[in-house]
Amino acid sequence: MSIFDSINSIKGIGVKKAQAFNKLGVKTIYDLFCFYPKRYEDRTKISSLGLISDGESACVHSVIATAPTLSRIRKGLELVKFKITDNTATAEVTFFNQPYLKTLFQKGDEFIFFGKFNLDNGKISLTNPVFEIADGICEKTNIIKPVYSLVHGLTQNDVCKAVSSVIDKHNNEIADYIPEDIVRSEKLCSVSFAYKNIHQPQSIDSLNMSRNRLVFEELFLLSLSLCKKRSEKSSKSGIVMSVPDMSEFFSSLPFKPTNAQNRAISDSIDDLISGRPMNRLIQGDVGSGKTLVAAALFFFVFKNGYSSAMMVPTEILAHQHYETLRRLLEPFGMKIALLTGSTKNKSEIKSFLKNGTVDLIIGTHALFSDDVEYSNLALIVTDEQHRFGVKHRSKLISKTASPHVCVMSATPIPRTLSLIIYGDLDISVIDELPPGRKEIHTYVVNGTYRKRLNEFIRKTCINGNQVYIVCPKIEEDELPETNLLSAEQHCDDLKKALPELNIKCIHGKMKNVEKDNVMSSFSSGETDVLVSTTVIEVGVDVPNASLIIIENAERFGLSQLHQLRGRVGRGNDESYCVLVSDSHKEETVNRLNILCKTNDGFKIAEEDLRLRGPGDFLGDRQHGLPEMHIAQLGTDSAMLVKAQNYAKQILVSDPDLSEHILLKQKTESLLNNNSVTLN
Ligand code: ADP
Ligand code: MG
Repeated sequence: MSIFDSINSIKGIGVKKAQAFNKLGVKTIYDLFCFYPKRYEDRTKISSLGLISDGESACVHSVIATAPTLSRIRKGLELVKFKITDNTATAEVTFFNQPYLKTLFQKGDEFIFFGKFNLDNGKISLTNPVFEIADGICEKTNIIKPVYSLVHGLTQNDVCKAVSSVIDKHNNEIADYIPEDIVRSEKLCSVSFAYKNIHQPQSIDSLNMSRNRLVFEELFLLSLSLCKKRSEKSSKSGIVMSVPDMSEFFSSLPFKPTNAQNRAISDSIDDLISGRPMNRLIQGDVGSGKTLVAAALFFFVFKNGYSSAMMVPTEILAHQHYETLRRLLEPFGMKIALLTGSTKNKSEIKSFLKNGTVDLIIGTHALFSDDVEYSNLALIVTDEQHRFGVKHRSKLISKTASPHVCVMSATPIPRTLSLIIYGDLDISVIDELPPGRKEIHTYVVNGTYRKRLNEFIRKTCINGNQVYIVCPKIEEDELPETNLLSAEQHCDDLKKALPELNIKCIHGKMKNVEKDNVMSSFSSGETDVLVSTTVIEVGVDVPNASLIIIENAERFGLSQLHQLRGRVGRGNDESYCVLVSDSHKEETVNRLNILCKTNDGFKIAEEDLRLRGPGDFLGDRQHGLPEMHIAQLGTDSAMLVKAQNYAKQILVSDPDLSEHILLKQKTESLLNNNSVTLN
């Protein structure tokens, strides 16, 4: 029998149980080894009854102080009750519907009990505890008990038994694929020790050692796979470009690029002339000026006789970029076109793309529809990359052979995650805002401020500035059970409260023409107040707006709030962000206050990651990470950095892993199993 046999071959696992295990992703014996407990109960410490606090789970070594009584409350409800003591205090123990226990416990016997204690007015009680005779063999107490995720049809006991049987029979059959010198220098425990102690820890120390090893393994394998992929990519050849005279472009700009922008441009130019396909992430906080970097690259590519594509996640942003880039680039004779779902002359644009008469195409998902063909396409820039599925990105890239690829992201991904998600990308960080930017003053208020807020809106507009108001939903009948503000309703209310202002509403369900009209009337300054949903979250750039009010702010993640806040503070005016929330939860208030304390998107992202974990942090957008079994990307970052370094070292001396056959197989299977996301 091999560890890659089905779990059906384990004694005691029949068809039903095997099906239940399959639901948990456990198909083979090896999978069972890797089915790590989700948490542990520490039953090793014996506590004194007198020192126990309410709600604490603990073990006590005690004497049965009173003979058990059995009472029938009603049909189907029988209670066995007795008292226990350990010289420090007395507690009452109750068992439900186990009448036979009345005779099992005898006054004067010593037992160890484990359970969750209740403390009410000095009275200690314990319900349905785990118990064992004090001088017997410990199986349930005095251990660190693993707790597994379950599905219907499986109990903790089923999993423990199955795991125990495979550990007994197969624990020595798992190969160690970590090279020996790494095992030594990292002081990793052996594989068999790791698997035994992750499931049946002998002590907290041995559990930590085991976890340490398994986390390292997981991160090392991931790092190695990504590094290998990267070196394979970088050996591909890309379109070689040469450096044209860029001075006419730079001198036409209304401002001087920041040093950080210049760096990002020159990093990218190095890629474009390198002969290898560019594969770069340009990461810069909201308002750091990523569009300008993109414009410089489009100019560069155009001067080299090729065309570029810019892909963005929303129609509003596509239109805005179209306007901005036309202004910047058309003077040099570049032909720029727009292709979105609502484009009228789609077939005309498509024929332009096919015959190469467009130098820059800007668009949404429509850019990679099956019937779009490109000629001469050399550079693909994706803006607000975090809003796209990874699948979409690879789909556009696959339309042309080895294009240069540049992704831009305003959501500052914490270093830990960017290493993994973008491990195969080069990164340029725009860590400097254009000069003159002031901190955005941020406040958290509750609904009682409504009148004052309206006054604030009025004053801001009278001063010649503009206001965004963001609501969590579109219409009143959406999510009726909540009392969230809807954009439409709130817009109507504001019109009544502030009749002298020009107030308009925008949201995702409106027709594109309407959206365009509203957006351009806001850009031109004709509309004073824009009441919207999160459709304005990314990219929208109206420097004259100096106040943003976010309603039901508790509904949004910190990074999302930071993005929204980034819609203001783009000009020279003092800018404000007001987060409105009636939540009394301390946690929520603390979370929102983080935004008042810092304007640094990286710090906010780290905090968001810490509070919500990577899954939530990245939301349901496909983030491109394979599922981690044991490593926690939010907290195991030091280990990740180590793992990456070892991975790079190995690939230097053994690029195709031919001297590390096991590792080679492992990385190949990881890449194959995640071919969509890791490509
Ligand atoms: P991002 O996409 O990084 O959020 P944008 O590209 O939309 O930022 O730029 C934000 C604003 O800053 C725009 O109004 C843009 O014109 C302006 N801007 C960009 N670079 C500079 C610069 N070097 N100096 C002054 N203003 C700049
Ligand atoms: Mg942008």
